[in-house]
Amino acid sequence: MEKFIDNLKEKLKEKGYKLTPQRRAVLEVIITNEGEHLSTEEIYDIVKKNCPDIGLATVYRTIQLLDKLDIISTLYLDDGCNRYEFNIQNGEHHHHHLICESCSKVIEVKIDLLEKLEEEIQVNYGFEILDHKVQFYGKCENCK
Ligand SMILES: [Zn+2]
Ligand SMILES: [Zn+2]
Ligand SMILES: [Zn+2]
Repeated sequence: MEKFIDNLKEKLKEKGYKLTPQRRAVLEVIITNEGEHLSTEEIYDIVKKNCPDIGLATVYRTIQLLDKLDIISTLYLDDGCNRYEFNIQNGEHHHHHLICESCSKVIEVKIDLLEKLEEEIQVNYGFEILDHKVQFYGKCENCK
């Protein structure tokens, strides 16, 4: 955790931002809840426990900043309630997401069979693909 935070501190500094205690608290919640895909309100509820003075607006702005700096990534869900997760920095491919339209559960998928599709796109459209994000919508095991 400390190593993560130190790296991120550097990253923020490079861009001219400070890792304030509040920013750090928000970041720690996102890192320790990896795989949970928390919403702004959920992050706020957890941060508040250790940081009772923090406001929802501060949490919101911190999330926007971390997203802009690519430290976290956003999952845009149809219910308008965005969810966030930490961007693992070790070059590992992002996982894909299954989103249940009934209970809003987000399930991570590690299978990636998109290399072929990327290849075809690069050849046929002359487009250099740097990354992709995939979300599947449907019903989870419990809801179907
Ligand atoms: Zn469901
Ligand atoms: Zn995820
Ligand atoms: Zn993929």
